[in-house]
Amino acid sequence: MDDVPTLAWHDDASIEGRRMPLYICGSWREPAGGDYFDSFDPTTAEAWYQVAEAGGGDVDAAVNAARQALVDPAWRGLTQTARGDLLFRLAELIGANAERLARIETRDNGKLLRETRAQIGYLRDYYRYFAGICDKIQGDTIPVNKANMLNLTMIEPIGVVGIIGPWNSPLNTMSVSAAPALAAGNTVIAKPSEHTSASALAFAELVGQAGLPDGVFNVVTGHGHTTGDALTRHPGVDKIAFTGGTSIGRKVAANAATHLAPCNLELGGKSPHVVFADADLDRAANGVVAGIFAAGGQTCVAGSRCFIQSSVYEEVVDRIAEKSRTIRIGHPLENDTQLGPLALAAQVEKVSTYVAYGSEEGADLVAGGGRPDRPGWYVEPTVFANVTNDMRIARDEIFGPVVGAIRFQDEDELIALANDTNYGLAAGIWTSDIDRALRFATSVDAGTVWVNTYRTAAMMSPMGGFKESGYGKHNGFEAIRDFSRLKNVVIDYSGASQDPFVIRVK
Ligand code: NAP
Repeated sequence: MDDVPTLAWHDDASIEGRRMPLYICGSWREPAGGDYFDSFDPTTAEAWYQVAEAGGGDVDAAVNAARQALVDPAWRGLTQTARGDLLFRLAELIGANAERLARIETRDNGKLLRETRAQIGYLRDYYRYFAGICDKIQGDTIPVNKANMLNLTMIEPIGVVGIIGPWNSPLNTMSVSAAPALAAGNTVIAKPSEHTSASALAFAELVGQAGLPDGVFNVVTGHGHTTGDALTRHPGVDKIAFTGGTSIGRKVAANAATHLAPCNLELGGKSPHVVFADADLDRAANGVVAGIFAAGGQTCVAGSRCFIQSSVYEEVVDRIAEKSRTIRIGHPLENDTQLGPLALAAQVEKVSTYVAYGSEEGADLVAGGGRPDRPGWYVEPTVFANVTNDMRIARDEIFGPVVGAIRFQDEDELIALANDTNYGLAAGIWTSDIDRALRFATSVDAGTVWVNTYRTAAMMSPMGGFKESGYGKHNGFEAIRDFSRLKNVVIDYSGASQDPFVIRVK
């Protein structure tokens, strides 16, 4: 595209050292309280820009803007096709600015540039997909047992959607809610993680350029316990879409319950990743390594509990350990880097603590476990063998590059162990036996099951967890339903008078 104007936050260099404002009602605003805090570059552990702390008044302003935009003919009055056109335009702008957005995200959370590039490419396609859905959102005509009566359903936007996201994939986790919410005609207020706020603000510029009316998309930055708390308690927010850890998810659901706003909760995981003896063991070992060490294990679906059938246990553990020792640790902007830093200093502490727990509780450290000798928040890819499902490294979400290999004998034992967890987000299995794969898929408590692949995402595939991994679905038409409300309209065209004292049962 040659008509893309220069952006205020057009790349990571233009963000360096700046105070980033809030984006409310189509314009940039200083936070009313004038407070800012530092955001850090994980490759240097040094501050690289300042994040505005949105207070209650700023959140009020964003909610007011979003409520007004919701009923403004400039948005509410658009045909569904015209709404789709705006989202197509946004998708084009994301594509045209993909490299800039990818670099900003890499700078913010240390994820490999190769991966953030792929994610932004996916993001462009994601908005395109939901742009295309806009004019396919339709209700039904439902038959009733009465003559001369029309019984309709209408699908409407819910209203103002508050989106709170984590730091591991900031734009993607925001967009799994924002894209369907906008496609369904809602207005949005996004609160990115305090650690990774820059890309949401760069994205907001693109929203403005795409021509979405002022107030349809707003960004309030700040800490979770202040800005996030104010947003989730606000009675003017009609739906909360939260992606983050399970403990904060509980608080968010409790806040939303004060005004009975429904929630989507996309929470943590401790996903089982299974290798049967009949699998292609090299592919399986590659899959296990990719499933845990991609993005430094900082993905909700990380296959952190690796179940290996007893007869091939040693062989598979050796292969996984061997592959993990050859992973190239480096700067995330460099093309041949395979593992970058963790996003936060606190994550480094957490991973180190769990590595110590693993050894204390009797697991065998067979690869990694330490910190490479370089600046920044790096940790080595870590493999524990002889892990049991009751150890803390097998029960708690570490959200880092640590995998525990657990032995099992047969399918029955495997299913019992795989489901013995509070979480239910994803699961993977490597086997050449399709019957076995299907038995596993039907028995495992996980919202997504991968067979002979792992961490394969598609915007059409409904995704969301069970148990303490949350509820609600993103992707596909399911997401449109999650961000819509269903209305029933009954029309009597008989012209007959109604008995005022008898309910007309349809
Ligand atoms: P987190 O600590 O739960 O924070 C998530 C978001 O909630 C952040 O924006 C945070 O703000 C905010 N927050 C914190 N306290 C809050 C409060 N009292 N009220 C309202 N908002 C509050 O999670 P994280 O450490 O950023 O992300 C890692 C977690 O996300 C992992 O558990 C991972 O599994 C999960 N995750 C799940 C999915 C999924 O699709 N299921 C995808 C990605 C990540 P601050 O950043 O300012 O604290």
